[in-house]
Amino acid sequence: MSLLSIDTISKSYDGVRALNGVSLRVREGTIKGLIGPNGAGKTTLFHLITGVERPSAGTISFQGRDITTLEPHEIALLGVGRTFQTLQVMGTMTVVENILTGMHSRLKGGFLSCGLWLPWIHKGERTALKEAKETLEFLDLLGRWKWNASHLSFAQQKMLELGRALAMKPTLLLLDEPAAGLTPAEVTRLAEKIRRLREQGMTILIVEHHMGMIMDITDEVAVLHNGEIITEGPPDAVRNDPRVIEAYLRGKDA
Ligand code: ATP
Repeated sequence: MSLLSIDTISKSYDGVRALNGVSLRVREGTIKGLIGPNGAGKTTLFHLITGVERPSAGTISFQGRDITTLEPHEIALLGVGRTFQTLQVMGTMTVVENILTGMHSRLKGGFLSCGLWLPWIHKGERTALKEAKETLEFLDLLGRWKWNASHLSFAQQKMLELGRALAMKPTLLLLDEPAAGLTPAEVTRLAEKIRRLREQGMTILIVEHHMGMIMDITDEVAVLHNGEIITEGPPDAVRNDPRVIEAYLRGKDA
């Protein structure tokens, strides 16, 4: 069953067509890769799925529900989480506070009730702290939970970025270039975490230029080029598709 269904989506910016009639399915419990040369429209597609921007045409459904016109926070609450290419980690906060902030919209109490220190809020906060520490343990960051986030290494900050998305307990996780800037050993560690998330039942859509990782962890890959899906299928078939090779070679010449 498709958890996410994108149907003939188009998006233009001042006459520039970023996406042109894109349709895409992400099946429940799978990892789908979305690749394509620079400027292909990958980030634009993430902006549309998460409600940051609206499509010029087409529809997006999540769990069978039309989410095309919902606000970003509504889509997040339905269970769509994401990480960003440029890290959103808050350097002035501790590592655990970064996770707790990511969790906030899922918590029972809002800012106001937290300020009143109601007894059940204390209980909620204890549970939140426990969950945050479990997330940090999963990401090998528990030993740094009280550190200021800015003191983490780049790779650890990328893990924390992932943790902030996981804090919302998403059903669908969108990863935007999670391996960018990582060493080969760090990429291997990250790939292992992503595989474990799928084992836990999470569905993942990943945009990534690191072909080794895409080929290694995905169940299916879709290739965007000039705002259109040019091919889609199992990673091995996509890797050897002449249209994909051509698109990437052209991208390098441009
Ligand atoms: P990269 O791999 O470099 O991140 P991408 O595949 O994510 O690229 P997008 O960032 O989605 O590509 O851009 C697709 C096209 O839309 C590009 O031509 C880009 O210049 C254009 N574009 C994206 N966002 C905007 C915007 N806010 N205003 C104008 N044009 C935009």
